[in-house]
This record gives sequence, C-alpha cells and structure tokens, in this order.
Amino acid sequence: VWENCLNYIKDNIPEDAFSTWFLPIRPAKINGNILTIQVPSKFFYEWLEEHYIKILKSALQRELGSEAKLVYSILMDQKSQGRDPYTVRIPSSNKEKPQPQEVDTPIQLDKSRLMNPFVIPGLQKLKIDSQLNPNYTFDNFIEGESNRLARAAGRAISKRPGGTSFNPLFIYGGVGLGKTHLVHAIGLEVKELHPDKTVLYVSTEKFTQQFIEAVKNNNQNDFIHFYQMIDVLIMDDIQFLSGKAKTQEVFFHIFNHLHQRGNQIILTSDKSPADIQDMEQRLISRFKWGLSADLQNPDYNTRLEILKQKLEKDGIIFPDEVMDYIAQNIDTNVRELEGSLNSIIAQATLNKREITLELTARTLSKLVQTARKEISIDYIQKTVCEYFKVSMEDIQSKTRKRDVVQARQLAMYFAKQYTKASLASIGSQIGKRDHATVLHACKTVKNLQETDKAFRGYIEDISRKISD
Ligand code: ADP
Ligand code: MG
Repeated sequence: VWENCLNYIKDNIPEDAFSTWFLPIRPAKINGNILTIQVPSKFFYEWLEEHYIKILKSALQRELGSEAKLVYSILMDQKSQGRDPYTVRIPSSNKEKPQPQEVDTPIQLDKSRLMNPFVIPGLQKLKIDSQLNPNYTFDNFIEGESNRLARAAGRAISKRPGGTSFNPLFIYGGVGLGKTHLVHAIGLEVKELHPDKTVLYVSTEKFTQQFIEAVKNNNQNDFIHFYQMIDVLIMDDIQFLSGKAKTQEVFFHIFNHLHQRGNQIILTSDKSPADIQDMEQRLISRFKWGLSADLQNPDYNTRLEILKQKLEKDGIIFPDEVMDYIAQNIDTNVRELEGSLNSIIAQATLNKREITLELTARTLSKLVQTARKEISIDYIQKTVCEYFKVSMEDIQSKTRKRDVVQARQLAMYFAKQYTKASLASIGSQIGKRDHATVLHACKTVKNLQETDKAFRGYIEDISRKISD
C-alpha cells in the first residue's frame, strides 16, 4: 500500500522534496483503513502535516478509500524522549473528529538507515565571523542578585554548549539590563573553550532582513542551510518576530533542526515567553523548553559595582559620595547608569570643574528634566495612534468605534501618568471630553491592565515607546 502511495506522491511533487520528505518514511503497520507510518522526528511529522497533508491524504484515499486514516509513529531521538508522546495519532481525512491519542511502542529502526534531510554529505565545517563584541565579556559583567540565574546558566552553557538542559536559554528583561552583553559573553566564552564550534550572534532584525533578502533572491534554502549549520546560535531581541508570520515559520524550522541535533540556542527578549504578542504558539512553547531566566533592575550594590568598574576602565576616580549619589538615584537600568556617568564626566570636562556632589546632582536633575520635558500630551497621542494605527482625527472625533475608544482611553491614561496636566485639561486636549470621562478612562485602563494580559502588553509597549 505504502509503495503505491509513494509512486503516486512521487509523480506529484518535486523530486527533491520527495526524496527529502518521503523516502525516510517507513510503513509501520496497516490495520483496516488505518495506515501507520514511521517518521524520524516530531519535526518531520510537523513538516509533513504542514506541507504535504493534501497529497498524503489523496494518496491514502486512493488506496484505502475515503475513510482512510493516517497515524504517525515518531521515532524519537534520545534527548527529546520523555517530552513528547511516541505517537501522535491524527485523523487525516476527517479533521473534525479527533481520535484519541494512542501510544504505540516505536519500532526501533537502525538509525543509520534514516536519512537526515539537512545533512549535506561532505560539507566542510564553516568558518564564519561570529559577530561578537570582544568587550562584552563575563569579566566585565558584574554579578548581582538581579542577574545571578541568567549569568550562572550562561556560564554552564559556555562549558557545555548544547549539553545542558538549558536549551534554549531564554533571557528576558527590560531595556538596558544587560541581555545583549550577557549573550555576547556566553558566545565569547564558548569560542574560547570550544574553538571548533561555530558560534553566531545575530539580532532578530538582521535575521529578518536576511530572510526577506533571501526570499527576494530565491535562495531561501541557502539561508536555512546556513543557519542550520551553526553550533551555538544567539538570537537577540526575539520579540521582534512578533507579527512576522513568514519569518517565524522559517525560524521555527531552523530552531527544530538545531535543537534536534543538540546544538545550543540562546534567545533574548524584552518579555517572558508567555507575554510575547503575535507569536505562534508552537514557537512560544519551544521557548519554554529549556530555561527562561530574567534580568532584573540591579540593586544598589550592583549599581555601585558597575559604576566602579566603568570608572576604573576609564581611569577616573569619583568621590565616594558622588558614587553613592548616582547609585542611589539612577535605579532604572544599567544603560542609564552609564549614560549618567558619561554626562557627569562631560560636564566636568567641558566646564573644567571638579566632580562634586553639587555638579552631579545638577547634571542628573537636568537629565531627568530633559527626559520629562519631551513628554507632552500631543506626543502621547501620537505614540498611541501610531501603535494602534488609528489617526489623530479619529481620537479627536466623537466616534465610538471600539479600537478608537481604546486608543483614546489609553492616551488619557498615559497623559495622566506622564504629565502634570489636570483631568480637565487632559480632557480638553484629547477629544474635547470632560474630566469625568478622563477619570473613567483611567479606571477602565487600570482594570483591564489587571485582568487582560494582551492589554497589559499594549500598556508596556506603549509606555516603553513614550519614555524612550
Ligand atoms: P539590553 O540588551 O538588555 O538592552 P545591554 O546588554 O545592551 O542591555 O546593556 C546595556 C549596557 O549596560 C551595556 O553597555 C552593558 O555593557 C552594560 N551592562 C549591563 N549589565 C551589566 C552588568 N551586570 N555589568 C556591567 N555592565 C553591564
Ligand atoms: Mg539588547
């Protein structure tokens, strides 16, 4: 039966695809109108389901009648055992009626007989530029309560890339907390300890651009092959895959391939896997396979240590009280800490002044003021409009369209949060409403923020946009 199916399929799809995806399949058993086939991996199963289900279905129906069913038996590789059931039973001809999950004992096949579709025989080890910044080392990365877990996991991975259960390692946290620094440090250390491993750092934006370019030039396969050959793939700011279905799909396949072969994957994001919006569920679930570790705002001592290290590197000495003042007052993130330090040094140098507490306080308060000054109600409205793709006219109008109402309420809420304007003044500037409407908007937003995860995501995104 399977032989006949294969002959039919062979005539209907490109030869490459046939040998890649159908030759490795083994017929396992047939029971009435149910055919069980054995596939090398879950990835294989998913790929077949996604790309070849139609042809499989018609081949099967030709052989076994319209009630034909297909059962996949997945030959697991060891490292994924225990995570997935051996057999995923799916009705191929009648998707509405889900069949009960059936666990078959997999037939142990001689592994060498299975073809791996992506291993190109005779391929040389690649030499690539890892794109790592030599300054972002573990030595320069101050350890603190806020980063202890992520750092320790990173260290463990550097010793045994792909050999720990931290695969993928998913590091998340707000802007400026050290995600990029930490993943570079891991990459550098891997290269030092395992010079034979191919390490690649890539920002998600660059990955996306490369993929778009590859599609345009019709060399997607080269793109995929390239990434599938990396031993340690570091992808920064994975949240930028949000809403990019095609790129998500190609990343999904690369991820599966790498993971299956025990190659290390390291990802960073500004949100936890569960909080990323517009991302395919199957990707989110894979992000959680290994270890998710967050980076938090550094505590006072860590901030002080970081300041000391930066100054030492530049050969500058600040009075203790100045150090204390900065560490006390700049408690947002490391990038701002560095920014403040640079401003103070610049102020002192420009004005040929000594670095005193007074100069420091003045410089920092100016920094805070300029940051605040730019946030006007107008700016908030623009940001919210842009985010929700509604126009300023809409917000100012009387319309009650749901998305406009939501944008309007959020603009009011943020105006209250970020400016000193009164409720009445906010109302008069946003859609000529009264102060009660603004108050109501603020309450609604706060409620939704507590009860609605997606909404919370919007608020976080927008406040980040407004304040950066
Ligand atoms: P993110 O990628 O999370 O936005 P970055 O990795 O770009 O943050 O870090 C911002 C800056 O702060 C970088 O210059 C980085 O070197 C520095 N930094 C972050 N965390 C630490 C740390 N624990 N020790 C020393 N420097 C740090
Ligand atoms: Mg970063």
